[in-house]
Amino acid sequence: KIVDMNVLITGGAGFIGSHVVRRFVNSYKEYSIYNLDALTYAGNLENLRDIENESNYNFIKGDIVDADFVDSMFKKYRFDAVIHLAAESHVDRSITDPLAFIRTNVLGTANLLNASKALWGKKAKDKRFYHVSTDEVYGSLSEEGLFTETTSYDPNSPYSASKASSDHFVRAYGETFGMPYVITNCSNNYGPNHFPEKLIPLFINNIIENKALPVYGDGKYTRDWLFVEDHALAIDLVFHKGRNHETYNIGGFNEWQNIDLIKLLCSIMDKKLNRPVGTSKKLISYVKDRPGHDLRYAIDASKINKELGWKPSVTFEEGLERTIDWYLNNKTWLKNVTSGKYKSYYKEMYPSV
Ligand code: NAD
Repeated sequence: KIVDMNVLITGGAGFIGSHVVRRFVNSYKEYSIYNLDALTYAGNLENLRDIENESNYNFIKGDIVDADFVDSMFKKYRFDAVIHLAAESHVDRSITDPLAFIRTNVLGTANLLNASKALWGKKAKDKRFYHVSTDEVYGSLSEEGLFTETTSYDPNSPYSASKASSDHFVRAYGETFGMPYVITNCSNNYGPNHFPEKLIPLFINNIIENKALPVYGDGKYTRDWLFVEDHALAIDLVFHKGRNHETYNIGGFNEWQNIDLIKLLCSIMDKKLNRPVGTSKKLISYVKDRPGHDLRYAIDASKINKELGWKPSVTFEEGLERTIDWYLNNKTWLKNVTSGKYKSYYKEMYPSV
């Protein structure tokens, strides 16, 4: 373990990033943690209120697309390691504005790689560039099979294409310039601080507000769900113990068809809100499918399990319960993020509901 490291975490004000920052700030007092985030619609410093006064925590507001700015931050703070999470992350938004995804996810990642290369030079051996990525780079599965680390890339959405591209750049910098990197490709996360444009928090919020629950297509799309703190735990393990130039898949061993997941959420919410059984289910409303929608994602996470001993620690029932309780106890957070800009975007995406 390297002590007294300056660790740059990008996108730390977002959903997963905030859990990673919290974990590192609390667990590694000997590190200086720098959270660099542009605070787009998805970045929210409210997510980090509990740790913002810790002496090993620093916030830098800025855009990774701005190469000069990124270079100047590397020169100023001399980062020893990067955990890169900043991204445009919502598939639907990537369909309406693909270029924003190319700028942040591809160019932004390349800027971070260049700045790391310039600072670390040939002494890069004890450094680490950790790229946090998604299982969506592998494309879609039929009803059988699992994604492994050697599955070919086959992205279908502008979001997954931009993440696939950034993964390739990270690997290429490793091969060409000796950049010490690790990449993880993780399945769908859920948990506190999740922006309510994504399925689970969107539906929790809509049930609270008695609004329609927009279900794409026939609701048969299948996703693997992982509690966000278990992802943060995996990132901690891979950062410290993962092998250089390796990819690790991270998944929850927890596949659900959207419609079954939505029905489960509805029944838990009925209980939590003391509403008669079946109340929330009546809000389900099928909407026009997303173009290029991947049928199924499922992860084989046996490599990280065997090499690093990681496995999910939170069951789906427990994770959902904790997530729902968090949203019910943090209505101001919900109100703040669902007002203003987000509302007009929501209308544009779901004009029929
Ligand atoms: P998010 O949208 O909640 O957060 C992204 C953060 O990045 C925000 O704080 C935003 O302000 C910041 N950001 C965006 N553009 C930026 C820019 N140009 N410069 C600096 N900061 C910028 O996303 P998330 O769900 O927390 O995902 C984090 C990472 O994990 C992403 O790279 C995503 O691809 C990956 N990932 C997400 C999931 C998931 O289920 N959410 C699963 C696997 C991998």
